[in-house]
Parts: sequence; C-alpha cells; structure tokens
Amino acid sequence: MYLYNSATHKKEEFQTHTPGRVEMYTCGPTVYHFAHIGNLRSYIMEDVLEKYLRFAGYDVNRVMNITDVGHLSSDADTGEDKMLKGAKRENKTVMDIAKFYTDAFFDDCRKLNIKTPDVVQPATGCIDEYIQIISKLVDTGYAYLAGGNVYFDSSKLERYYIFNDHDEDDLAVGVREGVEEDSNKRNKNDFVLWFTKSKFEDQALKWDSPWGVGYPGWHIECSGISMKYNGEYLDLHCGGVDNAFPHHTNEIAQSESYLGHPWCRHWFHVHHLNDQAGKMSKSKGEFLTVSLLEEKGYDPLAYRWFCLQSHYRKTLVFSWENLDNASAAYTKLLNRIAALKPEGDVDQAVFDEYRAKFLQQVGNDLNTSMAATAVFDALKAKTSDATKLAIIGEFDKVLSLSLLEKAAAIREKAAQAVQTSGGDYVITGEGDPEIDAKVLARYEAKKAKNFAEADRIREELKAQGVEVADVKGGASWKRI
Ligand code: AMP
Ligand code: ZN
Repeated sequence: MYLYNSATHKKEEFQTHTPGRVEMYTCGPTVYHFAHIGNLRSYIMEDVLEKYLRFAGYDVNRVMNITDVGHLSSDADTGEDKMLKGAKRENKTVMDIAKFYTDAFFDDCRKLNIKTPDVVQPATGCIDEYIQIISKLVDTGYAYLAGGNVYFDSSKLERYYIFNDHDEDDLAVGVREGVEEDSNKRNKNDFVLWFTKSKFEDQALKWDSPWGVGYPGWHIECSGISMKYNGEYLDLHCGGVDNAFPHHTNEIAQSESYLGHPWCRHWFHVHHLNDQAGKMSKSKGEFLTVSLLEEKGYDPLAYRWFCLQSHYRKTLVFSWENLDNASAAYTKLLNRIAALKPEGDVDQAVFDEYRAKFLQQVGNDLNTSMAATAVFDALKAKTSDATKLAIIGEFDKVLSLSLLEKAAAIREKAAQAVQTSGGDYVITGEGDPEIDAKVLARYEAKKAKNFAEADRIREELKAQGVEVADVKGGASWKRI
C-alpha cells in the first residue's frame, strides 16, 4: 500500500517493523460530550484503513484510548479539564459523564459499522505507566519541575516540529483562542506531563505521584497506552489533523526521548469535516450527531457513504443537500444490488481479477472514492450475478456499507409485495394503500384517455420515490 505520511510529507510505501503485522494506534474521543459527525469522519476513515490493511493480509493490532482525564479546554495546557466541564454542565460526576459518553460513542460507531479496536483503554486506567515514563524523563533531564508541575523540556530536542519543517505558525491550528501563557514553562513549546497545580482548583480525579497528588497531561496518555499495548515500535498512528500539533508532536517528543529510538513510522491524519459556518467542534456546543441524522430520517450508513466519496486528505464540507445526494446514490446502489439474482456459480477468475484491482486502487493512499466506483464497475461486469454479488461482498469487507444485507432485505420486501385488486387490474407493490390508490387512479385516467392526468400521477409518484411499471393485467411499483 502507498500512504501519505505526515511525518515525511510524502506518499510512501507502507512498511511495518514486523513484516505482516501492523501495530496501529488511534487517538480516541474525549468523552465529555457526544461525538459530532466530524469526529466520526475521522473514525470512519481510520476504520476503512484498518479494514483495508486486514484485507491486504496484515495482522492488525489496533489500540485506542478514551480520554477521560487531562484534556484541557485548550489543546495547550490551559483552561479547565474538558471532563470536569462536562460534569458541571450536567451536574453529574466525571466518571458518570465518561461512562455515558463512551457508551454513546460506541453506539454511534455501531450504527456507522465502525469496528471496535482490539484494545480500548480509558486514560484513567494507566496512571502507573505514565508515572514510569515521566520519572525516566525527569531522571534523564528531558523533564523538569516548576511551580508544582512536571514539564517536558522541548529545548532538549534537535528537532521538535516533526510535521512541519519551516513554519511554526502553520502548526498553530490546534492552539485555540484564549490560550494563556504559563510562566513556569522554560520554552514556549514545553508542555505539562503531570499537573499538581493547575489553573483550576477542583480537578475531580487525582492520583499520588513522586511529584505530589495530581493528574497526567493529555499527551502522555497516548504514549503510555500505545507503548503498553503496541510495544516500543508503532507502525501507524491516526487522528484528525488538529491532533498533529501540539498533541502528536508532543507524543513523539516524549516517546522518543523515553525510548531512545524512533517510535512511530507512519502518521495518518484525517482532514476536517466543516459545516458551512466552518469547522465543526464540540466545544462550540452546537453540532451534528448521528442521532440527529437518524431523527431526520437518514440511514447512518448514508453518511458513511458520503464520507467515502471524498479523500481523507481533503476538507469535506457538510450540507444537507450534499447528504441528500449521497443518500439517494446509496439507495440507488442498494436497489441495483437487490436486482441481482443470488443464484448460480461464482467465476473465480473474474472474482480474483476484481479483487486485485480493488486492492491496488484503494491501496493508492486510501482512495475510497475509487472503492465506491469499484462497486459500480462490478455491477456492470460481464459475468454472472452470483459473481457480482461475491465481488461486492468482498469489497464490503473494507467499505462496510452492509451492501449485501441491505440488498437482501430489499429483495425480501419485494418478495412479500402485497397485491391489491382494482377489479381486473392487479397492483403489486410494497403494501402502501396510499400509493396503491394513486397507481389505480393513474390506470383509470389512462382508461379514460386522460393521458396528461396519468402522466401527472406518474410524476407525482416519482417525486415520492416510487417507480411504476406496467405489467400484464396491472402494474407493479417499488420504492427507488
Ligand atoms: P476529540 O473527541 O475532540 O478528542 O476528537 C476525536 C477525534 O476527532 C480526533 O481524532 C480529532 O482530531 C477528530 N476531529 C475533531 N474535529 C474534527 C472535524 N471537524 N472533522 C474531522 N475530525 C475531527
Ligand atoms: Zn492521542
């Protein structure tokens, strides 16, 4: 596979420390609120990447943290802990908030066919690991104590800005408004590894440590959790593009200083989903969720399809119109698959040919729109329906759009189609009396030679998403 690596700024052949095995790490959600569909864009693309790697034959060990402590309101070290903010907002404990929004996150993932990583680790469960790393960093002079906190000393590194060689201003994306300077820091880029004193007094969760009772900084959790479950050599680290700085930059600084060797080979950053007003963000309080999409009648998988249409390294703009278009295309695709007959033999040679092409095309920097096109190509292939269905089922191991399951459900519904009789005129449809009545009205208009009225009714039905076909002795309709 060829994948763009944010650390080297180029597309590279994907290689792993141990051949055939991928140690993969994903920055998980900060569970103080629902995930918005922007966050979920990142998780969808990371899910496709993981599934593609498995499809390509790798054995993948995927690890994800759940941030339930230490992520302050600014990605730099100022402001209140986001978890505490969530707890105050809802008048609950931090642990209640963490549990509620962790469950909500995995519910959303399930609806979007996002697989749960092999290891999911809440940050509060690995305090000993962080203390061990920080202790070594203090002992080796990479970290210092100031004003009760432990800071990483960025001046000890030859190269701090991993993701950008020339312009540190470009990296300021993660640093949000209202950042106050911390006078304890020796250098601008130093960051907190362990807090015993923060700008706010009432941090809910605290642990004993060699530096006093306190809590870990946000960045150390990902290094600690990854080293615990992925080992000392990480192959692939994922997150949204806002994580690149300062979060991932700081993860690299502390991990490599601790390990004494390069840590992660490959960095995968998903660009943002913006709404028309700009970047979607949880802290703004108003954002789109999967539940909201469902309330408005969208299938969450239509959103997954929408995400797959665009490349992960491009900003994606959300609008209802764009989602409507994606949703209509997804429904149309399902209907076309449903029209295939699940009978006959699979032509293995054709299947292998399509699989190999898919592997190669999608393997070009995770070209997911090409993957979607591949499904349409399979539908047009000069081969048996059984072969087409087998190919589409194979592709769906990566796409996870429930293509075969949903097509089978449509087929079943059509088989149970209800027949209504308007005298000698038999209407076969999906059992909706209102539609049946319109179809019959169209027939009567035709019988009365009122073709304009018959056409008008046909158009009206079309606008409702219903297609009518004239068949011997009546009509048959279906939703498209
Ligand atoms: P958080 O819960 O804020 O820690 O973010 C969870 C994940 O979503 C991280 O990988 C972020 O980089 C990513 N993310 C945040 N905002 C967006 C967005 N608007 N579009 C895509 N990904 C995002
Ligand atoms: Zn992280």
